[in-house]
Amino acid sequence: MQREQRVKDGKREDHAEHIAPFVFLGENLALDLANTIVPVRGGKTRDVLLTLQDIASWWSQAQAYYREATRVGTLPSCNQETLEALKRLRTALRHLCAVIARQHPLKEADLEELNGLLQLAYPVVVLTEEGKLQPDYQIHEGEHPILLMVALATFHLLTRYDLTRLRACQNAACPLFFYDSTKSATKHWCSVSCKERARSVIRQRRGRAIETATKEK
Ligand SMILES: [Zn+2]
Repeated sequence: MQREQRVKDGKREDHAEHIAPFVFLGENLALDLANTIVPVRGGKTRDVLLTLQDIASWWSQAQAYYREATRVGTLPSCNQETLEALKRLRTALRHLCAVIARQHPLKEADLEELNGLLQLAYPVVVLTEEGKLQPDYQIHEGEHPILLMVALATFHLLTRYDLTRLRACQNAACPLFFYDSTKSATKHWCSVSCKERARSVIRQRRGRAIETATKEK
């Protein structure tokens, strides 16, 4: 399923090299919404979804990665309510990802925000251009399609993916989550550069500890 969602495999590069400020790891739209809290220098994090323009830019970039995002259009009708709802969904998503990545049990309450949004949609059967039958979802009038698209991506993530592969980046200073699609299922960092940053911090700390121990002798 996750493979179908990727529009271009070639776009899955190291996040550090992506156009700032958004991170697209490209495995699932919901994970990439969770990753709109990004790492910045000094071990700090930054929220990159602060304005309606941010949502429009994020969505426009999401379309390069996710086929389902292209259906909504480049500039979905957003207002302050959409921004707040998207952030509530992101908070719920980050909590779900953190619990799953730690392999802790989930509670019913953890799913409330998501299930509230899923109620805005209803399943339909549509005909493709080739005349094939295909399941789809429609949204009740007046609702925000961007929310539904992320909610459906979460629905797929939770029910169709191997959740033992959902991970929080092992770099303690990095807030990103990712889906480990490697054959060996042994990926622990969101990117190679993040792994190197984490290791260089450890090396610096060790160096300082040795220096202090030498001075104290
Ligand atoms: Zn990372």
